Amino acid sequence: MPSPAEPIQRTTRLAPSPTGALHLGNAFAFLANWALARNYDWHIHLRIEDLDTPRVKPGVIDQTIETLGWIGLDWDTGPEVQSLDQSPYVLAMKKLARSGRVYPCPLTRTEIESAASAPNEGTHETRFDPALRPLTIPRAFDTRDSNWRLIVDEASTIEFDDQFAGPQRIDIDQTIGDFVVWTKRGSPSYQLAVVVDDAACSITDIVRGDDLIDSAGRQILLMRALGIDHIPSYTHLPLVRGADGRRLAKRHGDTRLDTYRARGVTPERIIGLIAFWCKILPTRQPLSIEEFRAGFGLDTLPHHDFVFTPEDDRWLMES
Ligand code: GLU
Repeated sequence: MPSPAEPIQRTTRLAPSPTGALHLGNAFAFLANWALARNYDWHIHLRIEDLDTPRVKPGVIDQTIETLGWIGLDWDTGPEVQSLDQSPYVLAMKKLARSGRVYPCPLTRTEIESAASAPNEGTHETRFDPALRPLTIPRAFDTRDSNWRLIVDEASTIEFDDQFAGPQRIDIDQTIGDFVVWTKRGSPSYQLAVVVDDAACSITDIVRGDDLIDSAGRQILLMRALGIDHIPSYTHLPLVRGADGRRLAKRHGDTRLDTYRARGVTPERIIGLIAFWCKILPTRQPLSIEEFRAGFGLDTLPHHDFVFTPEDDRWLMES
């Protein structure tokens, strides 16, 4: 039994979605997460998030793990594959249902949008009007082929101090409202799966792209609803964008790590480019993952998104 004075082992996770396209944006987030973990002696757990995409093609999970290893990342436990055991999510749903926090919701997106009073500025989501809740809330989780939503009441403003992005205040009731925790595909939503899995592995440190900062609010709310009292510490990082300012995606060309690899680009070049964005290097130069780790820190990381330029692409391909 550990004595109270013994320091708690901090644990983070690498949580790729096996979409078959780990691109430069993912590479930056994973490298940063890995470097922080190795610099601070956090334990690293690898979790494959294959539930939030409807279909995962065979072989893609292995390919994702292989690509992470090719870049030079390592981890201490896992890979854990979410879809292999859905029982923890069902248990969580049963718990939420018993306390009257969730209900099945057959409404379509159009029905929800037409009930919304005004489009929700700043997010792509429509606020779910509480008037659309059913009159009776069941106390058992039964119909697994329906969407289920978490009841978000008025006192649902979540505040937390992000280790990089600073103090956050997210009013879930006003921006999102009741959100989906179980999907009609018969599996948990991303929000529920993350919360259940992070708690099961005692994750203390979550490091990921800034596009998920709003999700942190929903995840903390869910932790409270499930009685999870160890809220992790969050670090939300800059995103990588294309020269048009939009998040890196297919439209910016093929920035998949596997494609660069097939064209003979080395991990050191990819790491060197990311190190240049992170201001670890003054110019683009190949860099080893160990040098990246030694140079990486949140204090020196720029507080703006990175732009992947045609020069960056040309430089990568020079090798
Ligand atoms: N699976 C998510 C992604 O690849 C990350 C989720 C998380 O870190 O909470 O974007």
